[in-house]
Amino acid sequence: MSINFSNDFDEDEIITSTSSIAEDKSEGSLRPRTLSEYIGQEKAKDSLYVFINAAKMRNEPLDHVLLHGPPGLGKTTLASVIANEMGVNMRITSGPAIEKPGDLVAMLTNLNEGDILFVDEIHRLNRAYEEILYPAMEDYAIDIIIGKGPSANSIHLDLPKFTLIGATTRSGQLTAPLRDRFGVTLRLELYTKEELKKIVLRSADILGIGIEDSGASEIASRSRGTPRIANRMLKRVRDYAQVKADGVITSRVADEALSLLEVDKLGLDSLDRRMLRAIIEYYNGGPVGLETLAATINEEAVTLEDVYEPYLLQSGFIIRTPRGRCVTRNAYEHLGLKYSGGNSDQTVLEL
Ligand code: ADP
Repeated sequence: MSINFSNDFDEDEIITSTSSIAEDKSEGSLRPRTLSEYIGQEKAKDSLYVFINAAKMRNEPLDHVLLHGPPGLGKTTLASVIANEMGVNMRITSGPAIEKPGDLVAMLTNLNEGDILFVDEIHRLNRAYEEILYPAMEDYAIDIIIGKGPSANSIHLDLPKFTLIGATTRSGQLTAPLRDRFGVTLRLELYTKEELKKIVLRSADILGIGIEDSGASEIASRSRGTPRIANRMLKRVRDYAQVKADGVITSRVADEALSLLEVDKLGLDSLDRRMLRAIIEYYNGGPVGLETLAATINEEAVTLEDVYEPYLLQSGFIIRTPRGRCVTRNAYEHLGLKYSGGNSDQTVLEL
């Protein structure tokens, strides 16, 4: 068995990355299948429970659903839970995978009555193809133009009644006409430590991993409110427990393994710390614009905004102001730096 506990992970393979990486391939077995198995997101689940049951009573397909929230929070999982609860099939695609209009038309015309079409990263769907979705979502029909110039012919095709479930990390990038065609919009929130602990214990049970309650708590508090990270950490800590301890994950084992992976007590990784330090060292605590900050630490602004910021905002390490991002006193203290009082902008906003 080879275990990579070195720190030279590929940027995308970093343990706290929220995007899906190679070792998440076995995610399938960990995905909850019913609403009752799906932990947390109570508000979203409550609404869905009502919509699903109402649709089932009327014997109609569910209204189109838009799921938004940071990566790794369970959007794909929730879509498959919906399909399972509705007792229908789900076809999966993603915005960037649809390379030509024909791809989308083929997906739509291959659906059966009641099926769900799940489009991940729907904000990345080509705007020109998006228009195919408008009549498809509204009237369950599409118009295809065959040929070019004067001999072009328009063919009207009826589609089966289906449900589109779109997932996005950036609902702000969706065009208004597309957003308006979703009857249900649900925002997924970062998970609490208690919810993550339940997820870790459930996954450990499925994977047959020995874990103590305190070990699960340790992993939960370091997984940035994100189930994907919690599950990934569980697997890495299991490797460590097998080699260095007697196979059981205790809080000490989890702490040692995660510290080796440079994930600190609150789940911050080296990039989080680099980002906070840059705001403190180069911009005196902020405010600093996102683009400027991204250039300073040589990262992409969208990555900082979608992947890193939600957790740093939720944990109270940074705040957003109209003039840019500021770090808080908590961030100075967490990094062991002396709080300089920030600048006036931040002080006013913190009051
Ligand atoms: P997203 O589509 O939002 O990026 P996924 O649906 O792929 O996220 O979820 C990532 C992983 O987290 C999955 O393996 C799934 O098992 C786990 N997961 C997500 N949400 C939950 C939940 N509410 N309860 C248990 N496990 C979850």
